[in-house]
Amino acid sequence: MKRFYLLICFLLTASITALAQTFTSKPKLVVGVVVDQMRWDYLSRYYDQMPYGGLKRLINDGYSINNCLINYVPTITAIGHSSIYTGTTPAYHGICGNSFYVDGEPVGCVADDNYQTVGSDTKRGQSSPHLLLASTIGDQLRLHTDFRSKVIGVSYKDRAAILPAGRSANAAYWMDNTAGCFVTSTYYMNELPDYAKDVNAQMAKNKEVKALGKDINLSPVCGHLITDMAIAAIKGENLGRNGTTDMLCVSYSQTDAIGHKWATRGQHTDEAYMGLDQDIKRLLSVLDAQVGHENYLLFLTADHGGAHNWQFMQDHKLNGGKWLYQDHQKQAEAYIAKKLHATKNVIKDITVYRIYLDHQSIAEQHLSVSDVKQCLTEYFRTAPNVVQVVDYEKLRTSSLPERQMNMALMGYHPRRSGDMLIIVEPGYYEYGDWSSPVGTTHGTWNPYDAHIPLLFYGWHIKHGESSREVHINDIAPTICQMLHIQQPNACSGEAILEVMNSAAAH
Ligand code: ZN
Repeated sequence: MKRFYLLICFLLTASITALAQTFTSKPKLVVGVVVDQMRWDYLSRYYDQMPYGGLKRLINDGYSINNCLINYVPTITAIGHSSIYTGTTPAYHGICGNSFYVDGEPVGCVADDNYQTVGSDTKRGQSSPHLLLASTIGDQLRLHTDFRSKVIGVSYKDRAAILPAGRSANAAYWMDNTAGCFVTSTYYMNELPDYAKDVNAQMAKNKEVKALGKDINLSPVCGHLITDMAIAAIKGENLGRNGTTDMLCVSYSQTDAIGHKWATRGQHTDEAYMGLDQDIKRLLSVLDAQVGHENYLLFLTADHGGAHNWQFMQDHKLNGGKWLYQDHQKQAEAYIAKKLHATKNVIKDITVYRIYLDHQSIAEQHLSVSDVKQCLTEYFRTAPNVVQVVDYEKLRTSSLPERQMNMALMGYHPRRSGDMLIIVEPGYYEYGDWSSPVGTTHGTWNPYDAHIPLLFYGWHIKHGESSREVHINDIAPTICQMLHIQQPNACSGEAILEVMNSAAAH
């Protein structure tokens, strides 16, 4: 009997110790990698061509979530980066596009002229996360450790460095392609640290960088420079060696610029992903050396995917085409002018499938908003390649299928998302003056835009894969659960149990 009690005592102590260990054991560094416009199917498309060491190491040794979907529309860069790191969607984090309107006023998602550029003489650093309404993983990490954790964002685009890192981040660095160097904003600091100055000094001497000039983001070289800066931050800030868990948010943007220019197929896109693979390999080898394999927790995902080029689709008898939103705006205005006798324009903007009405103009002309919306519904009912247009305020009573309705709701912020949403046919995409005829874009609900890769690797992650559907806003609660820290303050996702289980079983 005594032996039995001893055994029970031993088992209880062991389980309490094990539980305590899960609460106290933490990775030294969390690394988030976001690849702009990376479709999920690129992982299998390029798998055989990739040598082991980069993406293949993450797939072969890490945990792959094969059905991670974006659960809001529109599927746009700034929204994706914000949703990954806040664990919520525009309805709560408020970042409704790369640029959008707040109470009718146009804004850039991170533009903020209260701050100055640090690192160059241009205005490219006048940015901050002031429009981000929710905390990020990094913010929660800083709160949890009384701000001892260091959190740093690095990218080519300001929004892709600033939004992932969050409001309380120590630093965010992005590229000024007019000056040919990395910059930051006085929001973070008044002078670049020496390690960032060193990267800029190397860039100034780099003939390839000089030759590419403003088009640096159309080359894999852009990714190599982002990696240089990320590595400089790891070493310069001693990330993973500060006694608490640090976080590095790296976003690769060249893949998006290359996709917009040359779409999903061909030499440029192949080279972009082979270049990215080298970047991931180099980043992992530095993390191994600086922080130690098993001491860092890394995830890789994307902010959205991308459609195949419309002409490529048509050439292969598949459905797709240009959706000329600027023409539709003009024609819709003409329809409203005729129908309601409006003498001034009533549409402020049609952007990423959203209609922003000019409420001031509507009021001045003594028109009713509901009449304008009714006219737009009538116009778009017969407009080519439109499935339907819905009133954001009447989504729940619309005839949208449930999935699209939920995506519209999750993407809707009443003061920032405009008035109506247009759903176009599969394969069709927004095409404007800026569009490359052989390129592509993104923004719709469709799987080619919404299905993103999600790989977890490193600390307490075992090899495995799951094909259960999860969502972009499930990433942050998963990381926070593993770190035993509170979820971001508007988190609406759920921790991905498959990943958790693999961590617990370690
Ligand atoms: Zn993007």
